[in-house]
Amino acid sequence: MYAEDLETHLAPYAMRSAASRGRPHADHDAAYRGVFQRDRDRIVHSGAFRRLQYKTQVFVSVMEGDYYRNRLTHTLEVTQIARTVARALRLNEDLTEAIALAHDLGHGPFGHSGESALNLLMRDDGGFNHNLQGLRVVDLLETRYARFPGLNLTYETREGFTKNLGANRAKHGFTPGEAPTLEVQLAGHADEIAYDTHDIEDGLVSGVIDEKALHDLELWKQAEADVLRENPTLKGDQRLRWRSVVRRLISVLVSDLIAGTEAKLQGMGCGVQGAGSIKTLADVRQAQRDIVAFSPETDARKTKLEKFLHENFYDHPRVRDKTALWQNRLKQLFAAYVRDQTLLPEDYQKRVAAGESLKRVSCDYIAGMTDRYASKQWEALVGKD
Ligand code: MG
Repeated sequence: MYAEDLETHLAPYAMRSAASRGRPHADHDAAYRGVFQRDRDRIVHSGAFRRLQYKTQVFVSVMEGDYYRNRLTHTLEVTQIARTVARALRLNEDLTEAIALAHDLGHGPFGHSGESALNLLMRDDGGFNHNLQGLRVVDLLETRYARFPGLNLTYETREGFTKNLGANRAKHGFTPGEAPTLEVQLAGHADEIAYDTHDIEDGLVSGVIDEKALHDLELWKQAEADVLRENPTLKGDQRLRWRSVVRRLISVLVSDLIAGTEAKLQGMGCGVQGAGSIKTLADVRQAQRDIVAFSPETDARKTKLEKFLHENFYDHPRVRDKTALWQNRLKQLFAAYVRDQTLLPEDYQKRVAAGESLKRVSCDYIAGMTDRYASKQWEALVGKD
């Protein structure tokens, strides 16, 4: 088999195609393409994936222009980082890629503020969170195949959405009490590396973050000193300096993640009972703590950087005011659908007729919208704040 031939170089603790727990519905996989490659292809061809292009990462795209990251470019950066680390650690690169490409499929319009607006609206009806919504997208909401709902992805790719699920793993069909694969753990950290670094860059370029304030952060200070030592002329070129420091920062975090994980794999404080090191996939599943991890020093520095981003970027009035405005508009839009379900597209109305809750169906519809589609719908149905 083609896929298995390509996996002979993988580490013993990596996930292999042949060990997959399969798909929710019976499916025939092609001989020339492994199951995780197929997952990746299905994700890239999905409507939810294409719509990431017009969804907010931090800046509301309909108001701030096209210059900054959106959720699609963020997803591509996460995927590229995750694949680099997967290959270095001899993990399953195809699976890692599929998880990374899918990781934000459940995000609604207007980023995290859109998410908290929907969660508030759904608080008495099961809530809303982008990870669980991602699972709904790939299991139910994508309609592309006659034979099954959703994309019918493998257990292992779907497991990428189980972050923070904890004791609720079983409720969503995942084996309880197990740690996720290293590929799932890795994608989560690649997400952090991508947004920590590109949000700094977007914050600087937009003028929301003041470069001087970054000098209180060890990670930034060190990366900048290294870059300037190698190329002193960058002192006089602000834009190229920022890009160079951000690139260095990615490289520092990626190298540290690889080294930190290797240390844990070799048994330095990995917390596996009765075993000094992680040798097999079964060891991974039984481990009590995350194995893919930064070194403790870098982890502490990274936490500081994230706190800085919260205080100086995500909570900055230029970001906050616009997201708060759209939060309110999403509430108005939701109220419009719940008041009059004939405003929903026909296939959504059919789901309500079949017994699904109108609120959940309206929430799914809004969560699937891009920023600009949501804004058009708001203009048409509500029109004033
Ligand atoms: Mg992300």
